[in-house]
Amino acid sequence: MLKARPGIMDIAPYKGGDAKLPGQTRVMRLASNESPLGPSPRAVEAYHALSPELHRYPDGAAEELRAAIARPHGLPAEQIVCGAGSDELISLVTRAYAGIGDEVLHSQYGFLMYAIAAKTVGATPVAVPARDYGADVDAMLAQVTPRTRLVFLANPNNPTGTLLPAAEVRRLHKGLPDDVLLALDSAYAEYVAGPDYEDGSALVRGHGNVVMLRTFSKIYGLAALRLGWAYCPPAVADVLNRVRGPFNVPAPSQAAGVAALGDRTHLDKARAHNNRWLPWLAAKLQETGLQPVPSAGNFLLVRFSNPALTADMAATFLNSRGILPRKVGAYGLPDCLRITIGLADENEAVASALAEFAAPQGAAHRAGAR
Ligand SMILES: *Cc1c(COP(=O)(O)O)cnc(C)c1O
Repeated sequence: MLKARPGIMDIAPYKGGDAKLPGQTRVMRLASNESPLGPSPRAVEAYHALSPELHRYPDGAAEELRAAIARPHGLPAEQIVCGAGSDELISLVTRAYAGIGDEVLHSQYGFLMYAIAAKTVGATPVAVPARDYGADVDAMLAQVTPRTRLVFLANPNNPTGTLLPAAEVRRLHKGLPDDVLLALDSAYAEYVAGPDYEDGSALVRGHGNVVMLRTFSKIYGLAALRLGWAYCPPAVADVLNRVRGPFNVPAPSQAAGVAALGDRTHLDKARAHNNRWLPWLAAKLQETGLQPVPSAGNFLLVRFSNPALTADMAATFLNSRGILPRKVGAYGLPDCLRITIGLADENEAVASALAEFAAPQGAAHRAGAR
């Protein structure tokens, strides 16, 4: 009988955030942390400009894109490896550094792809208990064994929005043996401000066992094009370039990425939008008695601790208002919803819907919504 390798059938397939609501004309898609402002118009133009060239292979080395990434970030282009989304880079790093019998560490409530990637290569994902929904450095270090090959840390973390201060990330790195690779997933780095945060590039610069993963799917609004990159020590870049597909990043994605990096105005606009609406929505939800976890990303993890007003009920109620939040039961958070910051009217719709849901007199409305 044909059989997949051990571990494969233990993988629960990754299920993305919902995108459709049957019967609703306008759907507010707040389930996948996409940028409500969409991509830079220049990126869209660059993508279209590639249409007469669809018969051509892309530049397998992504020279222009790597140079365009290197410039504003102040990094050496030869230490950048591009991927079809940072998801591909998560898989490549795992495939290159972990295998059967090895352990791959991540925090409880960490991004789901880490465990999926580990199981795919026959390694064992080890979920380390979180503290206040975020990574607990001491607990993580305590779980390092001679079998540990790889430690994943999303900072800020998805789906919790929690931030680990730079000193804590450095302490985590310092406690790891130098034959363990620390993969810092900074998918939301552009949203974070403040002296307490580092995206991980400084750690990569000084050490041979750290990589930083980045994506164009979040603040750049290019999720459809599957574009991510890793900043690596030279030896790790060499390894990833051996295991990646020769043409792993489509030409239209490369072109759009270059154009997006050239539009700082759009980037600043997306950041300013989030800086305005993230605290606004958090405050509104608190006023209604809900408990959003403090977030450094473009989303809020909201807890529904009242057993009479569960997260599932809230999701159904939001759906009845045309709003799509993300259920996070697969992350072990069945009492929470993750809600992406949307356009102004979408955020207002979320706030008023949840106020109505949580209000004592909301019971009648809730019954009506079913
Ligand atoms: C969205 C997300 C990614 C995936 O990004 P892609 O580039 O779209 O594959 C990776 N890590 C985290 C923490 C994310 O939230």
